[in-house]
Amino acid sequence: MDPTLIVLLYSSLAASAAALGALPLIRRAEVPASWIGWANAIAGGLMLGSAHALSGAGMALEPFVATGGALLGIGFTYGTHLVSDTEDLDLNRLHETDPTYGSKVLLTSFLHSASEGIAIGVAMVLDLRFGIFMALAIAVHNIPEATILIAVMRGRGVRLLPAAALAVAIDGGQVLFAVVVFAVVSAAPGSTAMMSGFAVGTLIYLVLVELLPESYRQTGPTTIAVLTSVAMGVLILLRGGLG
Ligand SMILES: [Zn+2]
Repeated sequence: MDPTLIVLLYSSLAASAAALGALPLIRRAEVPASWIGWANAIAGGLMLGSAHALSGAGMALEPFVATGGALLGIGFTYGTHLVSDTEDLDLNRLHETDPTYGSKVLLTSFLHSASEGIAIGVAMVLDLRFGIFMALAIAVHNIPEATILIAVMRGRGVRLLPAAALAVAIDGGQVLFAVVVFAVVSAAPGSTAMMSGFAVGTLIYLVLVELLPESYRQTGPTTIAVLTSVAMGVLILLRGGLG
């Protein structure tokens, strides 16, 4: 199969997995706060594991260029939060009454999924098998993250099916950016180390600024630390086991 089609196929699979995030909400109107904390911790751990895998594969190419890319990724993400007035936004307030809250959550979630698309795209350039691994890791990660987004949308009166469709559409940012980054970095291979670093920087920064602070507020620190570490460790072990 043509490599671009492989990127399209697996990034679409990752985005579609977000629909499974609706499952815990089929029989209940909302999920307990502790579940939201756990979902964030698992999603965050898988993101950290993905960043670890990518830093091992990509940053070894040109460490200083990759480090520069990581700083750029952190600066870019900070800048997008600043411009969109979402730098201190909680992404899981189930009963927020501010009318602008819904659009801010969707915008932040789209930018978040775009960063993950960059990670998938650049991993595919490094090695297609590694890229497929990365896309599958992001796919699993999308499920708990989508549960939170769908719970927030349900709290704002959106029915379950449209909320699930919205979660998949938001993660469409992964498809768009995976394919574009794969095409651009393939055409300009000199940018591989920089883009690997960029993706690593954004993934780690997003976990620290978006996922973990909220988890700690909703669930005890020990549970969150254990869940995050285990999710990260499992991913790193799988990556090691699969080579
Ligand atoms: Zn994510």
